[in-house]
Amino acid sequence: MRMTALTCPHCAAPLDLPARVQRARCDYCGSQLLLSHGNVVEHDAGPARSAPQDDAVVRELDQLDREWQAYRRTYLPRDSEGQYFVPDPEHCLYGAWGTGVIGAIPSGTFLAMNLLTAAIASAMLTASIIFVLNRQRQIGQVYQRSLANYQQERLKILNAAGT
Ligand SMILES: [Zn+2]
Repeated sequence: MRMTALTCPHCAAPLDLPARVQRARCDYCGSQLLLSHGNVVEHDAGPARSAPQDDAVVRELDQLDREWQAYRRTYLPRDSEGQYFVPDPEHCLYGAWGTGVIGAIPSGTFLAMNLLTAAIASAMLTASIIFVLNRQRQIGQVYQRSLANYQQERLKILNAAGT
């Protein structure tokens, strides 16, 4: 899934949103955001909380946000517009199964024709595609877990600060 990195105009929280989404709600302050081409064009300030004022809290959030951004930069491919790609774990799983099933056909055909080298080459190609898809699936799963952890951690800091 193509994702956009945004900053909430109300509470300054970094948000991860699907690139095509036009309306969203900030997970931290509840602001309603209207989006266009990956930018916030309008927002309705949420009632929940505004940006924290306490220096220690701001520093703690800043540190956490930077860690999250570093994680994203390291593990997710991104394009020039600042959008990045999160592999969909389920999609990758079906892709791997499909590749295995379809890849068995040429391998079997080559074997039947007694072309052992071609059969092995074909099986290796299939295996390498499945390997890449599985790797992508793991990236997608780890991303989802990491995002959930990060959001939880951020809310904990905000709640402790009482803002
Ligand atoms: Zn917000």
